[in-house]
Amino acid sequence: MTAARVEAVVDLAALRHNVALLAGLAGRSGASTMAVVKADGYGHGAVPVARAALDAGAAWLGVCTLEEAAELRAGGIGAPVLSWLHVPDEDMTAAVATAVDLGVASPRDLAAAAGAARAAGRPARVHLKIDTGLSRNGCPPHDWGALLDAVAGLVEEGVVEPVAVWSHLAHADDPSHPTLDRQAARLDDAHRAATARLGRPLLAHLANSAATLTRPDLHRDLVRPGIAVYGLDPVEGPGGSGHDLRPAMTFRSRVALVKTVAAGEGVSYGHTWTTPGPRALALVPAGYADGVPRLLGSSGRFAVGIGGVRRPVVGRVCMDQVVVDLGPADEPHGVAEGDEVVLFGPGDGGLPTAAEWAELLGTIHYEVVTGVGGRPRLSRATTGVTQATDGVNPSRTW
Ligand SMILES: *Cc1c(COP(=O)(O)O)cnc(C)c1O
Repeated sequence: MTAARVEAVVDLAALRHNVALLAGLAGRSGASTMAVVKADGYGHGAVPVARAALDAGAAWLGVCTLEEAAELRAGGIGAPVLSWLHVPDEDMTAAVATAVDLGVASPRDLAAAAGAARAAGRPARVHLKIDTGLSRNGCPPHDWGALLDAVAGLVEEGVVEPVAVWSHLAHADDPSHPTLDRQAARLDDAHRAATARLGRPLLAHLANSAATLTRPDLHRDLVRPGIAVYGLDPVEGPGGSGHDLRPAMTFRSRVALVKTVAAGEGVSYGHTWTTPGPRALALVPAGYADGVPRLLGSSGRFAVGIGGVRRPVVGRVCMDQVVVDLGPADEPHGVAEGDEVVLFGPGDGGLPTAAEWAELLGTIHYEVVTGVGGRPRLSRATTGVTQATDGVNPSRTW
């Protein structure tokens, strides 16, 4: 099969290795593992990732949106799924009908879950989210008692089945940060209050990848690793978390054209690089429309791997292509049209990684992998379209 112009290839064996490692750590604490596959499996493909993760020891799947949960169910995945971020008035009926667990952070979330349960004719399984200090999603502690009262009423009515109390950490990438213990203590308080008020055992969960890897004391009943499933280490600094994670994604393209350019010629838009002598150049048909950020071209340190060798990208990243310097025109470079170009991958032989891109861009590797190829399920709404009445010069706002 001919390789594509540009593609993200996902090594499911690496992914299974990472999940087995994470589930092994969790298992030592008596915890289960929820593989987080939101944002299309961090850009790796939610359904194949979910299958591989379940294969390798995950028992749960975590997603952000109901659409993501529905995609897993449509893909034939019957494992427990938790979906945690909902917009007002979202119809949760299909989620309840297909046994998708719902994160609940407010009376409105709870009412939506209960409404869906009545429509679906079965109780909604809910994970009650307490804000322990991230100040993002989650019920503030001062509203927790009222939320529990509302849950208790709906439990009595038989429409809500509480499953867990959970929260999310703010500083897990810095394992000794004092907020971790404070957040855990607040989670435990909320969990105690919930089990007492609802008169039943509930799961507790808190740990993301970083805490799964470095803070076994915070594993509680269930861990929720995301980025580490994909082989990227969330812990910054030399050595990271110290665990053997393998990056699963290789973002690659192929050489479209090899040619020589005379000395003193500007390369790519704006001529930000000029050939210092006659040069051999390779054209790679991948650009910012494919997830190669234009800002990479400003660093002067952006490289790709061709034939196992790092080669510098020169000039600006365009929408659809970049140019690679292969060296002086009269020296052999061994690069041919059709050769594989590694944009980033596992880093074998010192080739570029997503973490290296993140460093060059001043961001985190999470954003790099989820940015590959865009997010296909983003709906592209067109608003504010105004059609000029005379039929000419329609002005549009997107
Ligand atoms: C994304 C997310 C995770 C996974 O975080 P990682 O840092 O990728 O491990 C866990 N829990 C929640 C609530 C999340 O939003």
